[in-house]
Amino acid sequence: MQGIINTAKELIDRYNTGESIKIMEVCGSHTMAISKYGLRQILPPNIKLISGPGCPVCVTAQNEIDASISLASQGVTIATFGDLVRVPGNNSSLQEERAKGRDVRVFYSPLDALDYAMANPSKEVVFIGIGFETTIPSVAMTIKEAYTKKIKNYSVYCLHKTMPKALEALVVNGSDIQGFLLPGHVSAITGSTIYNFLVDRYNIGGVVSGFEATDILMSVVMILKNLKDPKIEIQYKRVVKDEGNTEAQRLMDEVFEESDAEWRGLGMIEESGLRIRDKYSEYDAEKKFKIKKPNSNTEIKGCRCGDVLKGIITPKQCPLFGKACTPLNPVGPCMVSSEGSCAAYYKYGE
Ligand code: SF4
Repeated sequence: MQGIINTAKELIDRYNTGESIKIMEVCGSHTMAISKYGLRQILPPNIKLISGPGCPVCVTAQNEIDASISLASQGVTIATFGDLVRVPGNNSSLQEERAKGRDVRVFYSPLDALDYAMANPSKEVVFIGIGFETTIPSVAMTIKEAYTKKIKNYSVYCLHKTMPKALEALVVNGSDIQGFLLPGHVSAITGSTIYNFLVDRYNIGGVVSGFEATDILMSVVMILKNLKDPKIEIQYKRVVKDEGNTEAQRLMDEVFEESDAEWRGLGMIEESGLRIRDKYSEYDAEKKFKIKKPNSNTEIKGCRCGDVLKGIITPKQCPLFGKACTPLNPVGPCMVSSEGSCAAYYKYGE
């Protein structure tokens, strides 16, 4: 392993022009891996890895968090991934609602939430559907299965977001990002060709990377090598294909259709989210429970998650980092989530 890292470092030195280079990683798992392996410290000082909007919990908009919390008070069972329960809303959190006696349950998979609904027909179970293309197919599967089996007490609050339009939002008005470390898990579903617009329209390349230290360093080498002639390439070939997982794509497309979506930090982005198709509308919690998101999308006071997610500041540049905001007492989602940049910087002492 050390030998491969040394080789990657030699290659980075070979292709390093000495100019300032900014590469954005757009996957929370990459952020964690980069911090864990200390890769920022390994790279020459002119090559900066900055974190982007790739943590699903972190990019969920504040009014979506508040709407999920207020749904818990309607007597339904909230089914969710673990990190989301600790994200502070403007007045409460799902964790606080659970402490007050609301039924908030953590599941590792949406399929477990559907099983729970089937085993408890007297409960209305609402799964909070956050996340990108990695998790969307399994949520689609639950909706399809509930439809086929005529399950009436399961629905999904669809807050899913998709990656390409968010990347475009980061570069559309000009950017100093010269390359993207593209997400490995998302791309296993979508394939790599969805990123071609970055080269075609913005002359910015990217590499779909794996998650080991050597994967990420070799991906950096590939980006540096192609800086003058940007390309979209796959380093993580053992998992990702150009065309992705076409069966999962078909499933997503059958259950969901494109919609506009609001992102923390990035605001409203056209066609960057999904909604449940009419055929499956009885499984759409937004319609079933007439969920209204608060109009105002007030960010948590003092929290700079929005700027962290856009790569404008590093977590340590937030005045609250490590002081008022720690993993035990998180102020914002980037410190809550196991894929959040602030949590990564805190955990690994960057
Ligand atoms: Fe928000 Fe805390 Fe990160 Fe600051 S350190 S941006 S308050 S999560």
